[in-house]
Amino acid sequence: MRALELLAPGQHRLVDLPDPEPGPGEIVINVEASGVCGTDLRIIQGDYGHISLPLVIGHEFGGHVAAVGEGVTGFAPGDLVSADPNIYCRDCEWCHRKAYNLCENWTAVGITRTGALAEKVVVPSRLAVRLPDSLDAETGALIEPLSCVLHAMQRGQVEEKRTMLIYGAGAIGLMALVAARSRGLDVCVVEPHEKRQARALGLGAFASAGDVAGLRTHEQFDYILDASGALSAIADGLTRLRKRGTLIQMGVAPTAATLPYSPYELYEKEWSIIGSNSVADCYQLAAQTMPSVVADLRSLVTHRLGLEDFDEAVRAMASPDAIKVHIPTWRREQLMATMELGKLRSLASCADSDGFFTDLALDALEMGSWTRRRAGADLRDQQRTTDTTRLAA
Ligand SMILES: [Zn+2]
Ligand SMILES: [Zn+2]
Repeated sequence: MRALELLAPGQHRLVDLPDPEPGPGEIVINVEASGVCGTDLRIIQGDYGHISLPLVIGHEFGGHVAAVGEGVTGFAPGDLVSADPNIYCRDCEWCHRKAYNLCENWTAVGITRTGALAEKVVVPSRLAVRLPDSLDAETGALIEPLSCVLHAMQRGQVEEKRTMLIYGAGAIGLMALVAARSRGLDVCVVEPHEKRQARALGLGAFASAGDVAGLRTHEQFDYILDASGALSAIADGLTRLRKRGTLIQMGVAPTAATLPYSPYELYEKEWSIIGSNSVADCYQLAAQTMPSVVADLRSLVTHRLGLEDFDEAVRAMASPDAIKVHIPTWRREQLMATMELGKLRSLASCADSDGFFTDLALDALEMGSWTRRRAGADLRDQQRTTDTTRLAA
């Protein structure tokens, strides 16, 4: 299989590795979509603990089951799945407390063991979920970041119909916006880039601007969620909490950074300052939640680049135009061979910013028994209608 191997900080290459075999209790997944996130960038830059090189990175993925190991029940080859990349022991104090993210014996796909920027990946079947028909491999790959956001909502005990201010409109900030909106909160977003501000508004933010004054709305909020990791943002957030307000820290700040706060205000206003780190026990919940937010979250995938274009993917990540960069690791022909016409049609009509799925569907139809002229025109119409509907909305 082809895989992207990190050899040293800043140094990676495309390699051919033997196809993996499933051990007892494991499944092998044909990876069809793999997300790249900030954690991957930190790993690539050599700014992340836990890892030993060389390593195949990639921990946000979806695809079809290729093989199942001894003793696996509930999964069969051909099932569409995604999986929690975090492998916890179920035996330590933190696992007993369901704080799997803090497990003393934690390992993770794409961080401490071979990951999903490859054509195949092996995972324990207990961490995999079968995806409903309304999802596909790409939305399966979005379940991991969504689970981080849902964990943050749980950590912050976010209650309905309150106000929230989010700092940062990258993938996590925008997913947090969607999750908070679906709980009925009024959400404002502070974000320096105008294009990202526009995305936040498109996803239902009450206001979005480069700073709180620019929001021209509330100045104090029940919840502050930092998804930026920027010290200036967090410091600003600490002055914006209402009584009984909660600051939820999701953004990853520099390891040695510190900030002052007012112990008097913390006491007097009964604030809470909460950290939220990765998935914990929220992967299954995110898989169940995904169908209800899938349209919004799919629109966050702005780039789809091949494994061989990984340098471009890393460059794209630095741009404000990029929200979520995906690597469709499977070759087009392999992917098409697994899909039915109905599925292709639904892919062709989805919100698809660069036409990847429309092209894929058209190619597949050409290879099948349908004439490109008839079915292709049909799909183009469908795509156009979707675009028009989106524009009108
Ligand atoms: Zn990630
Ligand atoms: Zn444990």
